[in-house]
Amino acid sequence: MNKFRIGFGFDVHSFASDRPLWLGGIQIMHEKGLLGHSDADVLIHALCDALLGAAGLRDIGFHFPDTSEEFKNIDSKILLKRTMDLLRANSYELGNADITVCAEKPRLSSHIPHIQICLADVMHVDSEDISIKATTSEKMGYVGREEGIAVYASVLIYRKE
Ligand SMILES: [Zn+2]
Repeated sequence: MNKFRIGFGFDVHSFASDRPLWLGGIQIMHEKGLLGHSDADVLIHALCDALLGAAGLRDIGFHFPDTSEEFKNIDSKILLKRTMDLLRANSYELGNADITVCAEKPRLSSHIPHIQICLADVMHVDSEDISIKATTSEKMGYVGREEGIAVYASVLIYRKE
């Protein structure tokens, strides 16, 4: 088996007016939050899917089904921690993660250092190994109409000897 493996994850959640906005493990002040069975942290979900995919361990819905009461309104940081536990149980460690958040609003650049620190803490990795980038979709499509947030995540993991 290869020592290095890459993974890719994608997730999208729609906005709802009566929800807090959780993104990358932190709460961000905004007039809308994201709708979902869990806290709807779309960034963490995309990251978990990338990690699981890299390790060949299916996807987030397989491990944490949205039909389960256990995961209703759950803090997605718990899902991320459990995902890292699963990887480490399979002798994998994170190389780096590169994450792109597509959102028309809110502006994220001032939040990025906090998200990096938060995720690094949950994952027990260096914050320099987690890159977060923010972009808009130039007012086109569902992101452009501010109907939701989409996140793409790439990761590299490696097998520890
Ligand atoms: Zn999700």
